[in-house]
Amino acid sequence: MNLGVLGGTFDPFHVGHVEMALGVLRALNLDAVHLVPCRLPPHKERPRLTPGADRLAMIALAVQDHPALIPDSTELMRPAPSFTIDTLKDLAARRPAARLFFIMGMDSFREISLWKEHQALVQGFHLVVVNRPGSPRPGENEIPEVARGRLVEASQALDTQEGRVHMLEIPPQDVSSTTIRRLAREGASLEGLVPTAVESYIHRCNLYCRGDDSG
Ligand code: ATP
Repeated sequence: MNLGVLGGTFDPFHVGHVEMALGVLRALNLDAVHLVPCRLPPHKERPRLTPGADRLAMIALAVQDHPALIPDSTELMRPAPSFTIDTLKDLAARRPAARLFFIMGMDSFREISLWKEHQALVQGFHLVVVNRPGSPRPGENEIPEVARGRLVEASQALDTQEGRVHMLEIPPQDVSSTTIRRLAREGASLEGLVPTAVESYIHRCNLYCRGDDSG
């Protein structure tokens, strides 16, 4: 079984997240993609994070028509901060027969050297990196050291050897949670940026109304 894992703050989960999960699911012919909101991100500093229960509820609403996309509360149940390597080890222990493909956007990939045990992460699992507007693919000399010599184009036949970094082009989605929080705070429409059910949830629960979002 081939399982994708997409981790993030997901504050909120948006169409960029939906499209990257579906894009990787289809391109790599995975069996499912787990969507794992973090309890507290190690690399982001925001004074206030929307409660995990709300972020998880928005994920569930966003993927209700896609049964292969699975909201996963693994990190919400662990003490903070949330480190991806711990999550992958957890999942690997629970699903010993599964190959795990960790999915990230190009912006995250460019910073992977800052991640805890990034060598173990890259060497012991499968990484999938998707394009993101505003974050160009690194040139030959900018590729994070840990990924050098490991890049494969995901458009070609799936390379199932561990330690590969699959580069996948998906239709670009120019959207970020930061933009959505700002628009919500301004009372602007979120149409096309989050699924309709997520927009209703944001309004119903008065999320992102305060002016204390520094990131
Ligand atoms: P914020 O604006 O709060 O920083 P974000 O939109 O970057 O949030 P995250 O929850 O931090 O969302 O992202 C989780 C993962 O999804 C990261 O690996 C990120 O690179 C990736 N990602 C988020 N949005 C996109 C997008 N529009 N296209 C491609 N990848 C994306």
